[in-house]
Formats: sequence, C-alpha cells, structure tokens
Amino acid sequence: MKDKLFTVNNLTKKFKNGVVALDDVSVEINQGVTVIIGPSGSGKSTILRMLNAMETPSSGEVFYKDTTNIFEKGFKLNLYRQKVGMVFQNFHLFPHLTVLKNLNLAQMNVLKRSEAEATEISINYLTKVGLIDKKDVYPNQLSGGQKQRIAIARSLCMNPDVILFDEPTSALDPEMILEVLNVMQDLANQGMNMIIVTHEMNFARRVADDLIVMDKGKIIERNTPEEIFNNAKNPRTKEFLERVI
Ligand code: ADP
Ligand code: MG
Repeated sequence: MKDKLFTVNNLTKKFKNGVVALDDVSVEINQGVTVIIGPSGSGKSTILRMLNAMETPSSGEVFYKDTTNIFEKGFKLNLYRQKVGMVFQNFHLFPHLTVLKNLNLAQMNVLKRSEAEATEISINYLTKVGLIDKKDVYPNQLSGGQKQRIAIARSLCMNPDVILFDEPTSALDPEMILEVLNVMQDLANQGMNMIIVTHEMNFARRVADDLIVMDKGKIIERNTPEEIFNNAKNPRTKEFLERVI
C-alpha cells in the first residue's frame, strides 16, 4: 500500500451563482501519480484548486498527510503551498521578470533563501528542463512549451512534496505538447507525487497509478488506467472515453 497524500471528506462547492461544482466528494489520494479526467465543467479544476486551498469549500474537509483540516482557521497556508505546488494551463509567469528571477522570487520571499542559494537551485532545475540557455530572457520571448517547462522548473525549486497540474498542455500548440509531457514523465519516473488534470489520454494511461473520472461534480469512477480504459464500469465513463479517444 502506498502512503496517503490527501484525504477529502464530503467536499461540496456551491458557487454564488448556484452552480454546484463539487457535490459531496470523498476520496483518498495516494502518493504517486493520480490523473483526473472528465468532461468540461465536471469540477476537475475546482477540486484541484481546493487541494491547494485556492478555493474554499461550502462544506467538507481536506487533510494533507497528517495535518489538520487545511481549511481550519490558523492553518499555515504559506508553508502548505510550498509543499503542494501548482502548475496552471496559462503558466502564470511574471512577464516583467527574467526567467531566472521568476524562479528565484518565491525561493527568496517564501523560503528566505539568499539570491546566491536560489540562483544555484534555479540553474539546477533550468538545466533539468533543458532551458538553461533561456535564463536571462523574458517570458514573452519563449514559446508556450518553453513557458510551461519554466513554470514546472519554478515549482520544483520550492522542493514540493506534490505538484498539482491543471491541464498543463491545453493552451499549447500540438507540436509543443510532447516536450511538456516528457518533462512530466521524467518527474513521474523520478518518483515525484503528482495530481494531473488532463485531456491527453495516452499520457494518462502511461503515467497514472490511479485514474479518477469526474462528471457533474462527482467522482464517478476511480481505478487503475488499465481497468478504466479496458473495462469501465460506469456507462458515463464509457461515453466520455468514446468521445475523447
Ligand atoms: P472543469 O475543470 O472540470 O472544466 P470546473 O471545476 O472549472 O470544471 O467547473 C465546475 C463547474 O463550476 C462549472 O459549471 C463551472 O462553470 C463552475 N464554476 C467554476 N468556477 C466558478 C466560479 N468562480 N463561479 C461560478 N461558477 C464557477
Ligand atoms: Mg478546468
């Protein structure tokens, strides 16, 4: 048995406009790679944002390892978000900072590393994602695929326990998708814990230890990718897979 990362208990999110994005979701997420799939609007981003406490629930709890409920008053979110990193569809790089400064910023502000320490770590991860030659350029001089590899490197600089990815390749031109998926595959091979929302089904199949299928604010199926792709139990899972594969 792998160790538990997250325990989600009865999580519900009803937005002010009345939309129920999460409907009483309970799930345990283990170490390793978990991939979340499902139709648009099914609540994938909402649950991911909830795990990082970027969204607060209408009701329910999230426990990380042996912490208290992350939504409890007084819970140290700054420290927590260092352990639970996030990579977004649209990169979220600072346009007015060079690549190196983008990577150094949170290391210096949150982890209190000196500029020299931060730079050494940034250079290490820039080398790992194959972009050391870009360290002094600004984000607008990079391709989408390069921006996303920089965003991943920036997350790695914080020594996270787990990285959450919300459709990391959805904003990319097709020829750039693979370079980002390859970086993520390398991380998986090195044992990084990851929770990934994606529509890249071949990648999901290859990389996931656990696959979660969402529909209409609920988890409708959860199993190994083998089982879900070959032997889905829920008719709505089958219908979804038929549409996307
Ligand atoms: P997915 O990532 O699976 O496409 P989301 O989690 O983004 O789905 O959204 C789930 C549902 O919640 C959708 O109906 C969406 O329109 C709605 N929703 C998401 N964010 C908000 C918000 N800030 N305010 C109102 N409704 C929202
Ligand atoms: Mg989404």
